[in-house]
Amino acid sequence: MPVIMHADMDAFYASVELVRHPDLVGRPMWVGGSGRGVVLSASYEARACGVRSGMSSTRARRLCPAAVVIPPDFDAYAAASRGIFAILRTVTAQVEEASIDEAFLDITGSLRRLGGDPVAIGQRLRAQVADEQRVSCSVGIAPNKFLAKLASKQAKPDGLVQVRPEDVITFLHPLPVEAMWGVGESTAAALHRLGLMSVSDLAHTPRSTLHRAFGATQGNLLHDLAWGRDTRRVSAAPAERSIGSQETFARDTDDPALIAVELLRMSARTAERMRWAGVLGRTVGVSVRFADFTTISRSFTMPALTDVTDEIHAAAMTAYAKFNLQRARVRRIGVRVEGLVDIDRAYQQLPLDAPDRGMREVERAADMAVQRFGPRAVRRASLTGGGHSVAKSVDEIDGWADV
Ligand SMILES: [Mg+2]
Repeated sequence: MPVIMHADMDAFYASVELVRHPDLVGRPMWVGGSGRGVVLSASYEARACGVRSGMSSTRARRLCPAAVVIPPDFDAYAAASRGIFAILRTVTAQVEEASIDEAFLDITGSLRRLGGDPVAIGQRLRAQVADEQRVSCSVGIAPNKFLAKLASKQAKPDGLVQVRPEDVITFLHPLPVEAMWGVGESTAAALHRLGLMSVSDLAHTPRSTLHRAFGATQGNLLHDLAWGRDTRRVSAAPAERSIGSQETFARDTDDPALIAVELLRMSARTAERMRWAGVLGRTVGVSVRFADFTTISRSFTMPALTDVTDEIHAAAMTAYAKFNLQRARVRRIGVRVEGLVDIDRAYQQLPLDAPDRGMREVERAADMAVQRFGPRAVRRASLTGGGHSVAKSVDEIDGWADV
């Protein structure tokens, strides 16, 4: 039976900030925008007031007026993340980076070398992360990824939960269906409509009923998971990397010209970050959040890898056009380049005589000028004078759920 570990940092961005602001330890605080932005990561003191990541800052402020708000510093979080993953790799090479602050480890093959007791290995790992990065992490240990993820969630904050093979059903079946990893709001609502509240209810429902409600594939998956069966392997391949930027408008807008300028601004910022990171990408995703907080996204894949603003902007405009929005009011918009590859590895894929070569050199020169003289030194004509419409902007690495 495999032994899978899920390590998940507790309130990651907030924890990294508390290392730098020790005076805030024990006080409610969150990382995020102070105006119309959202909460990215809240300390447990803020969570006690009901503040959650993804919540609008306005709402969070109402719930917790005394909280301190810290603007995000993604470079610091990425650096802490690299340090943490390096520690995880001392346990096993079988580490799958699931996001900036969580990973799956397949420790089956390392058990003997590390003394044979998964709980002792997990506790040592937690101590090492706390000691070296001063961030607390919760660990779940189970026979598969699904159960390990549920176990780490139960372990939060700063704990460890092991689900042994013989305990799987007693652990899993009393949980509500919405606790299952992969069951989102709409699936949970559909299960509730069928009268299925607990995982046990789901497990004891005939597959044919689930097929009718969810189709064969999802129906089978739900049934298997309800019995604790999950065959997904820990994939040690590097996590899919992406770099992006998003903006929340000061006022919801349906002005296509304003949206086009913001797409350009975010494309420029994303391209600059990509050149910093030394990566290229082909797929550009655009996400739009509406006034009612529903969020949709579309993407467009370019013919070749790039880190050039104009190409990313053109792809973003193409992706945006796929929404075919009429007069919907947009609250937040984001641009993200996905499937990033290191520039050294990608260079042979770059057509060296392509017309974008000149543009890349221009943009690199602009980056250098920004470094020397500050961001005002170089601005695109179409971007100067704008910016008052934007209440908050966030540059992000690798998504921002659950940090
Ligand atoms: Mg986390």
